[in-house]
Amino acid sequence: MPLLDIEGLRVDFGDRGRPLAAVEEFDLRLDVGAVRGLVGESGSGKSVAMLALMGLLGPDARIAADRLHFGDADLLALSRGARRGLLGREMAMVFQDPIASLDPCFRIGAQIEETIARHERLGRSARRERALELLRSVGIPAPASRLAAWPHQLSGGMCQRVMIAIALACRPRLLIADEPTTALDVTVQAQIMGLLLDLQRRTGMALLLVSHDLPLIAETAQRTSVMYAGRIVEERPTASLVARPRHPYTRALLDALPERHRRGERLAAIHGSVPTPGARPAGCAFHPRCPWARPRCADEAPALLADGDGSVRCHFPLDPGAASG
Ligand code: SF4
Repeated sequence: MPLLDIEGLRVDFGDRGRPLAAVEEFDLRLDVGAVRGLVGESGSGKSVAMLALMGLLGPDARIAADRLHFGDADLLALSRGARRGLLGREMAMVFQDPIASLDPCFRIGAQIEETIARHERLGRSARRERALELLRSVGIPAPASRLAAWPHQLSGGMCQRVMIAIALACRPRLLIADEPTTALDVTVQAQIMGLLLDLQRRTGMALLLVSHDLPLIAETAQRTSVMYAGRIVEERPTASLVARPRHPYTRALLDALPERHRRGERLAAIHGSVPTPGARPAGCAFHPRCPWARPRCADEAPALLADGDGSVRCHFPLDPGAASG
């Protein structure tokens, strides 16, 4: 049984009579202890899908799915209280901006201990000991003195380590890291990614990495899903996705990477931007930006179909060896 099994997830905002679908036909499976990537430009719906999974969207979001299972729990059938109980204890999430995620009015130790107290019956000194052990496990130097520190006294990288410590406080089976390094300096980014992978290996938890940064995911995830305009457009083992992309959008993301260009060569940017839910074109949502678009693409929305070692949503999947369009 997969740890996470999502089929046909849909998230709507706006009026019921005129719903705006931020996420549609979203499928994702994740095995126990696996590392998976979810990639797309900002506005593609990745974070909304993850917040829906965690039950963290506001009351204006309407969530439906054919299947939304975590282990043997049907998340759609759980009460609000039971769902909240899973959060933190079994599933945890790390966000993009670690400084904003910490409460500036409480010391680091108090924030970690509060999470522990919410899920485990431990006395004060046992909670403190566990908080210390967590800070040590995420590589924070002089952890005893950091427990008494305020968030503003720590760097962005240190704050993200604290957020990871808080996320791991109750030994979750799934950690979702949503753009965990985007707000950090390049050197710190590599340290945080190294830490996440090291923790994943040590604890055996599953890791779902969400990012606009395909190379970051390519180095770490076993399988990757690519999302565009609220839908998964390609899914396959990461190595094959990067070496032989079949969807033009995946191909365009790869072609836009600086490391794929020779010095002085012009970068192949993807023209235009991801359409908002209310402004998606008919047919394939990528067709106004797709160099391979044909007349059928503007009329008929493609389905996600099995294709080799994965699946692709395109009427005319690329030849694995195709040159840029
Ligand atoms: Fe491009 Fe057409 Fe495929 Fe959409 S369906 S990605 S427009 S080729």
